[in-house]
Amino acid sequence: MLSGTRGVVITSALPYANGEIHLGHIASTYLPADIFTRFLRLNGREAYHICATDDFGTPILIKAEKEKKTPEEYVALWNKRDYDDFNSLGISFDFFYKTSSKENIDFVQQVFDKLRKNGHIYDQNVIQFYCSFDDKFLPDRYVIGKCPFCGAENQYSDLCEKCGRVPDEILEPKCAICGRPPVKKESKHYFFRLSSFGEKLKEWLSTNKHLQPEVRNYVINWIDEGLQDWDITRDLSWGVQIPGASGKVFYGWFDNHLCYISSLLKFVNDKGGDGEKFWNDSDIYHFIGKDIVYHHYLFLPAMRLGINSEYKLPDFIPTRGHLMLQNQKISKSRNWYIGLREFTSAFSPDYLRFYIASVVTYSQDDLNFDFDAFYERINNELIANVGNFVNRALTFTQKSFGGKVPEPSVIDDSIRKELSGAVKEAGSLLENNEIDKALKRILKYSSFMNQYFQASAPWANKDTANTTLYVSVNAVRSLAIMLEPYIPFSCEKIWRQLDLSGRVHNQTWDSAKELDAVKPGNVLGKVEHIFRKIEAKEIEQWKNKLGKQ
Ligand SMILES: [Zn+2]
Ligand SMILES: [Zn+2]
Repeated sequence: MLSGTRGVVITSALPYANGEIHLGHIASTYLPADIFTRFLRLNGREAYHICATDDFGTPILIKAEKEKKTPEEYVALWNKRDYDDFNSLGISFDFFYKTSSKENIDFVQQVFDKLRKNGHIYDQNVIQFYCSFDDKFLPDRYVIGKCPFCGAENQYSDLCEKCGRVPDEILEPKCAICGRPPVKKESKHYFFRLSSFGEKLKEWLSTNKHLQPEVRNYVINWIDEGLQDWDITRDLSWGVQIPGASGKVFYGWFDNHLCYISSLLKFVNDKGGDGEKFWNDSDIYHFIGKDIVYHHYLFLPAMRLGINSEYKLPDFIPTRGHLMLQNQKISKSRNWYIGLREFTSAFSPDYLRFYIASVVTYSQDDLNFDFDAFYERINNELIANVGNFVNRALTFTQKSFGGKVPEPSVIDDSIRKELSGAVKEAGSLLENNEIDKALKRILKYSSFMNQYFQASAPWANKDTANTTLYVSVNAVRSLAIMLEPYIPFSCEKIWRQLDLSGRVHNQTWDSAKELDAVKPGNVLGKVEHIFRKIEAKEIEQWKNKLGKQ
């Protein structure tokens, strides 16, 4: 795909505007998407990484009421906070918007009208709890009562937090707002005929060769077991209003992924382009975690098929597993959890990027954040391998040649081949989303250069020191380009120490193959250590904090 000149739209699953971004979100979705987008940019592709906050739904309404804010105020705070957090990690969105934008609301309503016109929507009365005192229908989270399994009081009607089970019917139901018992009442709901899309979805899943086979296979199993129609209605005020049905809004999963399209349209149209054309002419990637496979492999394509593929279906849906923390499930309530902001205020954001990139596979396997492994990877790979080579090459040039890149004699052909092989192989791995393997390949090249430097011993062999340093300084430049998708902050620093013009992220991937880009006579900038070693006691402090309230 990469060899093409087409545009690329990359989307990351939308964070719910109701809590901070943690390491789990980063690992499955945002970081892989960012590394991939940065790689595409280095390859000169017109690639746009689009994301937005998911602003609607009952949990947000309840939280906003608790904090005495309007839901608009509440989600605006989280939208800004999420964006700032992502930014601090170097997640370089081209556009970060929100599902509550006017553009998305209009777009969702238009899609609904088209689906209805095409016969994919029907209505049906459903029985629901209703509070006569508050005069409103009560969605699941607004009804509390006693768990029929374990007897715990004050549990939501859709989930007992004590025993983790989902009750069919909660005992002694109460309205969560006023505490009075609700009544049951009929309400008209709209349904999307997902069941009628089985064959078409199967055809799309089987012909799209870019989807990960293991995911495709179990989604096809779901289809074979029969798909249920989706109730896309909520009797709420906070959401995208259903046209012609007052007091009713769409279920969040009807509107949120449409925001991928509506945001891209706004972004491209605002730049004076044709958003719809751009979408349809581009390669489309939706990066997700495995918990939302159902929505992205069935609901999302079915809705697009239902409007006659006016907006093309995804080419790729890179799906990854969950992040475990010290081999345990991440849990905010047990404080088995690390907020992104807390982590990046203690360590360089590049450390987190490097470590996660080195363990994130292109599969649904869960991955593990392990503090000891983090310590090892950063100190023994990033610093002892990359940092050591960069620092030795630049410091030696500084000391022995006054910071001036020397004129080389003959450069061995094998040295050139080693570099072009690394650029080519890492490039094709990144192209295929094999982020961890590509990183390993780049580190292999860095090791090779460390050995080359050590074996050439420029401190002893004065007659070849000029060639050794010339080659090494150029290899530093190549490493900075290849590592830019992974550790962008550090690579910009390396670029400044090389005193090269422009910024590293504006270079081209293929130019990393050049071993003659930094010319003899070039003068280095100020040379200093790029990385700081992690101390064992820091790691112990972090480990000790986990699980404590
Ligand atoms: Zn229970
Ligand atoms: Zn009530």
